[in-house]
Amino acid sequence: ARQSTTVPLAFYDRRLDDERQRRLMLGSLLRQDTERNAFTWQFQPKVDAAGRCTGGELLMRWHTEAYGEVPPAEFIALAEELGLIGLMGRHAVHAAAQLAAAGAAAGLSLPVAVNLSPRQLATPGIEAMLLHACRRQGLQPAQLELELTESALAGSIDEVAPVLQRLRQAGFVMALDDFGTGYSSLAHLGTLPMDKVKIDRSFVLGLGRDVRAQRLLEGIVQLCRALGLRTVAEGVETPAQHAALAALGVDEFQGYLFARPLPLARWLDLLAAADGQ
Ligand code: C2E
Ligand code: CA
Ligand code: CA
Ligand code: CA
Repeated sequence: ARQSTTVPLAFYDRRLDDERQRRLMLGSLLRQDTERNAFTWQFQPKVDAAGRCTGGELLMRWHTEAYGEVPPAEFIALAEELGLIGLMGRHAVHAAAQLAAAGAAAGLSLPVAVNLSPRQLATPGIEAMLLHACRRQGLQPAQLELELTESALAGSIDEVAPVLQRLRQAGFVMALDDFGTGYSSLAHLGTLPMDKVKIDRSFVLGLGRDVRAQRLLEGIVQLCRALGLRTVAEGVETPAQHAALAALGVDEFQGYLFARPLPLARWLDLLAAADGQ
C-alpha cells in the first residue's frame, strides 16, 4: 500500500518542481537578457481599404538557448512580476522609434505601433521616456502609436487616464487594443482619450459563422465612427473576412492575409537600401 501512494506522489512533486524550476530559470535569464537587451523584434504591416501600407506593429521576440522561443504573453507577464517591464518596454520603444525613423529617412510615412503593458503604463516617467526616444531619432510623436489593451486600463482607470491624456496631447497616436475582450469596453470608448480601436481577432473569427458576433461587430464599427475613432481589424486571415470587414467600413487591416510579422532587421535593411537610392 505504501508503494502505491509514494510513486504517483513523487511523480506529481517532480512535475511541480519542473514548473517552478522553469520559472526560476526563465526569470534569471530574463533579467540578464533585459539588462543586455538581447531581444529581437518583428514588424507586421497594416493596410488600408485600398491596400496601401498604413504603418504596422512591432512585436517582441525572446529566444533562449534552454527553452527556445518563449511566447510574448509568458515573458511579458514574467517581466511585470519581476519589475523588469520598465526597462524591457524602453527597449521596445527605442526599436519602434528606430524603425519609424528609418521609414522617414526613406521618404515614407511609416507609423510604428508599440504595445505598452499595464504596469509599464504606470511606470513613472513613461511620458519623458517616450519623448526622449522620439527626440533621439528626430521623430515626431505622431509617428509612434501606443497600443494599450483594455485589461491595462481596467483596474486603475483613474490613475491611468491623466497619463493617457498627456501622451495624446504630446501627439502620440493612441490605440485601444484587443477591443471587446474587456469587461467594460463601451465605458472605455466614451471616456478614454483614444484615436483608434483595434477590434479583437475573436470578432473577425466570428464573421460568416456567428450572426450575433457579426451584428456586434457592425455595431462596434458604427459606434467608433460616430465617436470619430478609426477602426483596425486584427487577425485577418481570409479574403472573405477582409471583404466583410471592408463592407462594414473598417479603416485598417492587419493579419496573415496581408503580411506575416517579419524580422525588424530585414525591414531596416530594406529601408536603408531604399534610402540610398
Ligand atoms: P497583440 O497586441 O494582440 O498582437 C497581435 C498578435 O496576433 C501577435 O502575436 C501577432 O503575431 C498575431 N497575429 C497577427 N496576424 C495574425 C493572424 O492573421 N492570425 C493569427 N492567428 N495571429 C495573428 P504575438 O506576436 O505572439 O504577440 C502576442 C501578444 O504579446 C501581443 O498581442 C501583445 O499583447 C504582446 N506583445 C508582443 N510584443 C509586445 C511588446 O513589445 N510589448 C508588450 N507590452 N506586449 C507585447
Ligand atoms: Ca497590439
Ligand atoms: Ca491586439
Ligand atoms: Ca489580440
